[in-house]
Amino acid sequence: MIESTYDQEKYRKAALKAWSTIRKNKIEKIRSENESLEDYIFDIDSRKISYGKFHINPPLIKASKLTWVEKGGVGKELSDGWALNYAIGCTHACRFCYVDAIHKRYGERRAGPLVNKSWGNYLYLPENIEEAIEQTKWEKWKGIEVMMSSTHDAYIPALAATTRKILEKALEAGVRICLQTRSPLSIKDFPLLSDYKDQVRVQVSIATMNHELSRIIEPRVATPDARFNILSKAKDMGLTTGIIIAPIMPSLKIRPSPSDDLEEIVKRVSLLKPENIYGECLHTRGSNITELESMLGESISMGNFDLVMEKKFHNELKKYGMKGRWWKEHRNH
Ligand code: SF4
Repeated sequence: MIESTYDQEKYRKAALKAWSTIRKNKIEKIRSENESLEDYIFDIDSRKISYGKFHINPPLIKASKLTWVEKGGVGKELSDGWALNYAIGCTHACRFCYVDAIHKRYGERRAGPLVNKSWGNYLYLPENIEEAIEQTKWEKWKGIEVMMSSTHDAYIPALAATTRKILEKALEAGVRICLQTRSPLSIKDFPLLSDYKDQVRVQVSIATMNHELSRIIEPRVATPDARFNILSKAKDMGLTTGIIIAPIMPSLKIRPSPSDDLEEIVKRVSLLKPENIYGECLHTRGSNITELESMLGESISMGNFDLVMEKKFHNELKKYGMKGRWWKEHRNH
């Protein structure tokens, strides 16, 4: 039987309501048993992660649409048009992430059946990474900035050691790196990065200062405070730093005022004054909105939020004598 759009919408709302109650009860339970939600990983237990192997074709550096306007990309100023991604999956499991949609589009044929699992719970590692590192002619990208990484965090626990090996080779050959991470595991490599200060920038992303919201939308990521600490440590080592304030979520029951949230983020940013500041709202990519709605237990409506927050972003930065770039909605990645 084909259900009408009305029925589908009715069922969707009922499901969201049910999930909202479950989520609320769960948070109450956590509150009664723990001092804070900080260390609690919701139902996205890391023991659920499945690992696989795939064969990666060198070179490890590939052209990136994300950064290359000439190739139909969005020109996000995160590299000179190159990215270094070497895993399939990202165990940080951010609920707003659109990378899962890319892997699911390729499907099983590129890596294997694990990509059918939910986002954050599969990770394919390259079986031939040592060879691929050796076979990449790093000098070809001497003086060129490469983003590391755009489809996974290079410092999730399973990748940190390999990332170090890659960085040693790349930096020695003169490659410039835009290291984009949410992981404090990156800090242990700052002494290495600081030997190549002119070639490196370290950037983190912060979506919210509301820790409860953060636990829901980025369940396995270090807290916002821990991420500011990454920037602070990078600054202490004399590294160039940057922050991406994203994705800014609209008004939600758990965090009603996005404006207050942004003010708090910018206040924290002002203490560090990173060289690069970017901002972006939540955008629809793949099934990320549905995923978020199910996790949050409410509908997400964007309206003209992008425009409102763009203005707010610039005004807030101006208060502290800072400037940044707002990434408007783009549909071609
Ligand atoms: S860290 Fe980045 S790539 Fe990984 S899940 Fe989060 S948004 Fe996606």
